[in-house]
Amino acid sequence: IENIRLQYSITLYGTNNRLVVVRNITRLHQLEVMRKDFVANVSHELRTPLTVITGYLETMQDGLALMPDKAPPVWKRALTQMLTQAERMQNIISDLLTLSRLETSDNQVDQGAVNVHELLDTVVNDAMAYSDGKHRVKLECPDSACLTGNREELRSAFSNLVYNAVKYTPEGGDIKVRWLENNYGATLQVKDNGIGIDPQHLPRLTERFYRVDKGRHSQTGGTGLGLAIVKHVLLRHNAVLDVSSKPGKGSTFSCRFPAVRRECG
Ligand code: ADP
Repeated sequence: IENIRLQYSITLYGTNNRLVVVRNITRLHQLEVMRKDFVANVSHELRTPLTVITGYLETMQDGLALMPDKAPPVWKRALTQMLTQAERMQNIISDLLTLSRLETSDNQVDQGAVNVHELLDTVVNDAMAYSDGKHRVKLECPDSACLTGNREELRSAFSNLVYNAVKYTPEGGDIKVRWLENNYGATLQVKDNGIGIDPQHLPRLTERFYRVDKGRHSQTGGTGLGLAIVKHVLLRHNAVLDVSSKPGKGSTFSCRFPAVRRECG
């Protein structure tokens, strides 16, 4: 029946007595669809006004730069703050739209051969530019590494993990990105020796907007949506995320893929 989902749960009592519980979750399903549509629409609608606001703020900032002595100092501070917050909002909207696309589109489309070595090389170079030489970022990946998947989605997931490693590792820290293959598939390992994560937070890391320490992390410019994106991308590639971490010692995020592709063509 279209649009109707039923959840079954079967409980067995003894050997002969069986109790079957059938629960109609149509309403729940409809609410979930409404939630996804709402988030996608709001995010989309907020994009244009925010672009206009940012544009005018930049124009005002340029104007201030032309008359540095005439404007009160507080104007400069206020404009800088407003631009920082506007950029933050843009990042949140962009991540929410990415999540919506991941939740709604068919995961079989746009899958092809992805040259993992080339992809990781790009991701690591971008992260090094972001770190501005303040971390050592090392990549170990065979030239032949290849996957069947969606390049853009995988780039987004891998970038989130490597950028996080940089964001949550103090200056001078080490980040290792490794691609390991065996008979069962492949693992991407992103290891840092940064601030680490308390074990109580590990199960909730991939929830939307979950941040371990909102106050302390407000400087990192994150959105709290990165690991939710990672989780969805991996789901669409039949892969899983493992996290191991020790507070003050560092974290390792591992993405386990069930199969690799021998030829990238
Ligand atoms: P954010 O945009 O806040 O980085 P994420 O969803 O990417 O959001 O990560 C969720 C939270 O997990 C972060 O706020 C941070 O507290 C924690 N986290 C993620 N990666 C790391 C890491 N490599 N080291 C320590 N903490 C991390």
